[in-house]
Amino acid sequence: MTTSSSARLTKTVKQQYMELPQGHKVQAMYIWIDGTGEALRCKTRTLDSEPKTIEDLPEWYCYGSGTFQSEGSNNDMYLIPTAMFRDPFRKDPNKLILCEVLKYNRKPAETNFRQTCKKIMDMVENHHPWFGMEQEYTIFGIDGHPFGWPSNGFPGPQGAYSCSVGADKAYGRDIVEAHYRACLYAGVKLCGTNAEVMPAQWEFQVGPCEGISMGDHLWIARFILHRVCEDFGVMVSFDPKPITGNWNGAGCHTNFSTKDMREEGGLRHIEEAIEKLSKRHHYHIRVYDPKGGRDNARRLTGNHETSNINEFSAGVANRGASIRIPRSVDRDKRGYFEDRRPSANCDPYAVIEALIRTCLLNEEGEGPIEYK
Ligand code: ADP
Ligand code: MN
Ligand code: MN
Ligand code: MN
Repeated sequence: MTTSSSARLTKTVKQQYMELPQGHKVQAMYIWIDGTGEALRCKTRTLDSEPKTIEDLPEWYCYGSGTFQSEGSNNDMYLIPTAMFRDPFRKDPNKLILCEVLKYNRKPAETNFRQTCKKIMDMVENHHPWFGMEQEYTIFGIDGHPFGWPSNGFPGPQGAYSCSVGADKAYGRDIVEAHYRACLYAGVKLCGTNAEVMPAQWEFQVGPCEGISMGDHLWIARFILHRVCEDFGVMVSFDPKPITGNWNGAGCHTNFSTKDMREEGGLRHIEEAIEKLSKRHHYHIRVYDPKGGRDNARRLTGNHETSNINEFSAGVANRGASIRIPRSVDRDKRGYFEDRRPSANCDPYAVIEALIRTCLLNEEGEGPIEYK
């Protein structure tokens, strides 16, 4: 299956070195989103002591032209630490550090959506917005073939694979298990996982996370997945429609609630939010994938448990709608709702910012409003 050279190196030999004491030094892996808005980059530095909070971490920089981020001759970009996690690969006391990228003039890089998201989240702090995102993904061999699929032809049709068990149905569980445990160790709020409808496709859920932390936790969970896949010599794809034809695409359903929605009779607030969303469908579609809707156009066809990209719809327990109210929420008259439109390769900061703008800041129309 795999032709990855580094996956063929002996991991047991590596382990001998990883067990060496590291003195009082700490390795900090700085991680950031590159100029594509989808891929992650990382590099490591040694710290003299264990950082306790994000303030203990120095700024750093990266060379923008190597990461699709350069702007003319001003190539150096700043890396600003924003969230810290335990490192499940090098283990304690080593750290994974998620960073924001700033340009030479200290303005956010084009693909840095965290800064405005943070500003919007601060404005609605008293609503205690919670999010939960369901990250779907597909495992590929590094030859670009879906993992475990027969080399000539296709596996049996969909139906047998969702939440499946068995060697002929669940392809690549080792990766899922390793990723799950690594996330829990890191302190990522992973709340579940399941095999998906297409073979070699899986999902993990992150949440509920309050405010900006939703984006931080999802991006680190994605990083950990890429890193685990590297060890196994396979690749993860977040493409929203990795295989054309009669195969499900990959989304990133975003579940959302406010304090009001979670309290008794909160269903009324959920319905109000959905009403506002119904009037701003195209704005959300533009924000929900990195290509302004073009990626989702391949996925949101109205088939394969998706809604049509051109129409807004909502319903209880309806998996063919843009917005779904879970059955239990309808029964309890309180809880949360699910926006099924975001694409698997969406930027979570952009998605949750749009939800707040429309549902809590009552924005209307095609574009976002600028606040002082
Ligand atoms: P589905 O039935 O759509 O497959 P999942 O079980 O995969 O649902 O995911 C449910 C998601 O909803 C999880 O990410 C969870 O964190 C999130 N969630 C649960 N309760 C809330 C809430 N009150 N507000 C926001 N998100 C929530
Ligand atoms: Mn799910
Ligand atoms: Mn799913
Ligand atoms: Mn869902």
